[in-house]
Amino acid sequence: MLLRGRLSRSLFATSALSLAAAVVAYLIAPHELWSRALIAGLLVIAGGLLGLQVVSTLRADRRYATLLEREVAAQTRSLMDSLAATAAAEHNVRSLMEAVPDAIVVLDPEGRVLDQNPSARAMVAVHPPPGTPPGHSAFESLDRHAAAHVRTNLDAAFRGEVRRFEVPFTHTDGGMGMRSVIYAPVREGGKIRKVLALVRDVSEQRRTDAQLQQAEKLAAMGQLVSGVAHEINNPAAIISGFAETLLLGDMDEEQRDMVRMIRDEAQRIGRITSNLLAFARSGGKERGLVDLNDIVQRTFALRSYYLTTLNILVKLDLDPDSPRTWANGSEMQQLLLNLLINAEQALLTVPPPRSIVLRTRTVDQNVLLQCVDTGPGVAPELRSKIFDPFFTTKPEGVGTGLGLSICYGIARDHGGSIWVDSTPGAGATFTVSLPRDPRAAPRPAAPPPEPATAPAPHLKVLVVDDEVGLRHAVVSFLERRGFAALGVGDGREALETLGRESPPPDVIVTDVRMPGMGGREFLARLRAEHPQLARRLVFSTGDTFAPETAALLQEAGGAVLVKPFDFSQLETVIRAIAAA
Ligand code: ADP
Repeated sequence: MLLRGRLSRSLFATSALSLAAAVVAYLIAPHELWSRALIAGLLVIAGGLLGLQVVSTLRADRRYATLLEREVAAQTRSLMDSLAATAAAEHNVRSLMEAVPDAIVVLDPEGRVLDQNPSARAMVAVHPPPGTPPGHSAFESLDRHAAAHVRTNLDAAFRGEVRRFEVPFTHTDGGMGMRSVIYAPVREGGKIRKVLALVRDVSEQRRTDAQLQQAEKLAAMGQLVSGVAHEINNPAAIISGFAETLLLGDMDEEQRDMVRMIRDEAQRIGRITSNLLAFARSGGKERGLVDLNDIVQRTFALRSYYLTTLNILVKLDLDPDSPRTWANGSEMQQLLLNLLINAEQALLTVPPPRSIVLRTRTVDQNVLLQCVDTGPGVAPELRSKIFDPFFTTKPEGVGTGLGLSICYGIARDHGGSIWVDSTPGAGATFTVSLPRDPRAAPRPAAPPPEPATAPAPHLKVLVVDDEVGLRHAVVSFLERRGFAALGVGDGREALETLGRESPPPDVIVTDVRMPGMGGREFLARLRAEHPQLARRLVFSTGDTFAPETAALLQEAGGAVLVKPFDFSQLETVIRAIAAA
């Protein structure tokens, strides 16, 4: 550039000098030939030099312009490239955001939504409906408590903390759910102006967790309860057995009353333990023919003491036709227990008189189970929500909002339904409708006890039970009633006895669970070795709800005595089998 400037200046100076010399020559000798020739030469030189300068300047400008053009083109290309890279990066980030199934939301310090992905838009309850312009608040559809909780966490995130928390929310259809949220501060130039929120719907997961937890709790409780119940059941059976044996003898009326009382109370202990066993056995999903009246009686027995202390009167209004359904007995009991506990809690909020009716009915092809209370009732606007998981109007620590949703699940799994009818202020009626099973009980129920008739000699009974006291009680009762009774401790001893006894026993009464050979193996051996006697077998057990016992009883198909049994019932069953 510098060189080009100097050259241009010297060309210009030389041409100027040539012109000046031509002027001087003209002034000195304007008409001389040499002067004219010199002037012409000088003018030619000046013109040539000027032309040269013009040409040189034009060439230099063109080169410069070309260079400039190239430079501008290169800069433009690089700018376009970085713009394209920025757009591609943004596009990638957007597509990632859109692909994530969790909601991603960017919030300002006021909780206003600055940006969000489609999943966040779909979470209508926390964020407004699709199409709503950004700028709405994340608090809009939260209730007061949830909004305060979110506010605290948002403030902490703007102070630089990463926050993880859960918040209840309302579904589009008005149902309740639970969301897990992470708030992460976004730093720009050392300042936090935005918070990134990651939100996930965990309602279903929480419900499954809660059910699992409850199932685990019940399983643990079941083991404990069944151990205790078995321990109590046998002594209770022995007490009631000896009491009945004593009742066969002579005594005065006062003594008889006392012994009867001993027998009745021992039998009550038996009923309680059998209810506990039924309740504790909720692990399996086995189904069988379930009598709703039986479920009502067992469930009520579990709560009857507590209900009395609360001053709540309970009436059982049971269909005499014993409505039956194909169901899991423990789940049915859990369902009714949830309804009963809700009714109790509702009644505690109103002054006495407080009452509950537990009703069973058969209507066409369905059986109905109803729990009617005289509590505050359910407001119309709540009726569609109460069966949702986590919906509760009870204080924290009292309500989990899971009871009715579990009832709903159980009813649905059994092909039935559950609903509530209520007049606010005048109580609530929860009705469960289930398909009626027209079959009779799969194994004949023990016939009702008849008053002991005349002794029945000639009948021989083999009693198989590992509990010495009970075996002794049964044998002595039967002997007093005129039977020939033998007692042994397990299946193996029973088979040995059968091998040498002649004639064989008319009836065998056996326990199910025994150390040594238990009921299942004994039945199998009997079928193989003494098939005619297998039909004369009566099982006696305290735990008909244990899945393995229930399966055995169903398979055996014979009569069953539930421990602790009424001894007159034992006698009736023995006579019926011997006569068959
Ligand atoms: P929780 O009992 O833990 O609240 P539930 O799912 O069993 O959960 O019940 C949900 C809600 O339904 C209760 O919080 C209560 O508002 C209402 N509810 C249930 N049973 C009754 C009843 N018998 N009377 C009045 N309200 C009831």
